[in-house]
Amino acid sequence: FVDIPLTSPGEVSLSPGAARHVQVLRLQPGDALTLFDGSGLEWQAVVTAMGRSEVRVNLVAATQPRRELDRAVTLAVVMPANDRMDFIVEKATELGAAVLQPLVAERSVLRLAGERADKKRAHWQGVAIAAAEQSGRTVPLRVEPVLPLSAWLAALPAPAADEWRGVLSPRAVAPLAPIAAARASFLSGPEGGLSDAEEDAARARGFAAVTLGPRILRADTAPLAVLAWLALGA
Ligand code: SAM
Repeated sequence: FVDIPLTSPGEVSLSPGAARHVQVLRLQPGDALTLFDGSGLEWQAVVTAMGRSEVRVNLVAATQPRRELDRAVTLAVVMPANDRMDFIVEKATELGAAVLQPLVAERSVLRLAGERADKKRAHWQGVAIAAAEQSGRTVPLRVEPVLPLSAWLAALPAPAADEWRGVLSPRAVAPLAPIAAARASFLSGPEGGLSDAEEDAARARGFAAVTLGPRILRADTAPLAVLAWLALGA
C-alpha cells in the first residue's frame, strides 16, 4: 500500500511506509511488485533504486480489478474486549466490508475514548491495510473514529432509498433475509448485548431488528457471519 496517489506511468518515490515494506522484503532493482493507493487501481511496478531512506519504482501499467462487494457494507460494531477488534478488522477486510464503525454502548466492557480511542483507530486502520495487502483488496476497509452508540445514532441521517439497515438481536423474530439495497449497515452489540433502549433507538433510526438464528453468537462472530453471508452472494 502506497500512501500517495499513483496517477500515471513513470518513476515515483515510495511513501515511507511502503519503502520500509519493500526493504523488509529485500527487493532489489529489477524486481517486480504490485502497488495500490486505495483508489481502486492496482499497479504493476518494477524497483528502480533501493536507497537507505528512499525506494524508487517505475509504475508500468494499472488495472482496476473487481474485488469489492456489489454493495457497500458498513459494520457498526459495539467493540468487544480482549483485542477481538483486531480479528474483526482483519476478517471484515478479507470479506469485503467498506466501513467499520467502532462503538461504545451501555454494556460495553471496552470503553475507549479520547487519545486512547484515536490510537486504537490508527492501529486498526493499519490492520485493515495489512489485510488489504494480503487479500488483494485495492480499497482498504475504512475504520471510523470510535463513538458512543447514542451519538452515532443521533447523527445518522434518515436511511436513503437505496440503503438497508439492520440491528442484530438474538431476541428478534424476523430472520435475516436477502437484501436488494445497494448499501447495507449492520449494528451488533457487545458481550452483554444491546439494551432494550438501544435497540429501540436503532429502530427509530430505520434499523430493522433481525435474528441470525437460535444460537447466541459472540460479539465478533455475529457481524462477520452477516458479512460472509453477503460476500458469498446473498
Ligand atoms: N445476552 C446477549 C443478548 O441477549 O443480546 C448476547 C449478546 S451476543 C454475545 C453479542 C451480539 O451479537 C448481540 O448483541 C447481537 O448483536 C449479536 N448476536 C449474537 N447472536 C445473535 C443471534 N442469534 N441473532 C442476532 N444477533 C446475534
